[in-house]
Amino acid sequence: MSAAVPSDSLTPELAAKAERLDALLDSIAARHANVKLASSLAAEDMLLTHAILSRGVKIGIFSLNTGRLHAETLGMIDRVKERYGYDIEQFRPQAAAIDEYVASHGLNAFYESVDLRKRCCEIRKVEPLNRALSNVSAWVTGQRREQSVTRAELHEEEHDAARNIAKFNPLTDWTEAEVWDYLKAFDVPVNPLHARGYPSIGCEPCTRAVRPGEDSRAGRWWWESRDTKECGLHITTITPIAVDRSENTPA
Ligand code: SF4
Repeated sequence: MSAAVPSDSLTPELAAKAERLDALLDSIAARHANVKLASSLAAEDMLLTHAILSRGVKIGIFSLNTGRLHAETLGMIDRVKERYGYDIEQFRPQAAAIDEYVASHGLNAFYESVDLRKRCCEIRKVEPLNRALSNVSAWVTGQRREQSVTRAELHEEEHDAARNIAKFNPLTDWTEAEVWDYLKAFDVPVNPLHARGYPSIGCEPCTRAVRPGEDSRAGRWWWESRDTKECGLHITTITPIAVDRSENTPA
């Protein structure tokens, strides 16, 4: 059965989208015995967290605790525990790699060059992500196409060739307004930073609030050009997979 969709507070279009999301998550869990959502604890991932935990879908949830997150973001781990009784698994960077980076370049060397920024992301995010995904056959993300130019070609189902596992982006065609309408309708806990102008939330020193008219990822690594703004979590070799939408649409 689908999650209890409060049909009186969702438009018919969004209610149908939510039903379809539930069906897709069920399908992913049925096809993959070990599958995890990589949660940044931001709005899209909280939507997926609700869709998974409120219905007991067999999809694990983990987060990358980089050591540089906002207190508000870390606080979401407790809020998920309070609301759903679920402990989000945390993956942290390796202390020796952090020590070596800081000793060689300085704590905040990511401001100095794209290479040093990417190296920091590699240590604090990519390596822990690889560990988190080392024993799964599929992972799920909250990415949406409209978030930025780097995500314009996103597909709902992809093959992550670098890890040889499946990758699902169930919110590919959701708009920002739809995400927030869903979160409001289900009273899902959200990171308080969103209300302070942070549509996309990463590490504290690398995220700023966005200005009116800017795209939702403009506040991430704001000192870099638009086409470098990914941390390496989502730029491994990806092969899009055509999805038979009728299969995922509930009768
Ligand atoms: S977002 Fe910034 S602090 Fe976080 S891992 Fe990347 S460069 Fe380092």
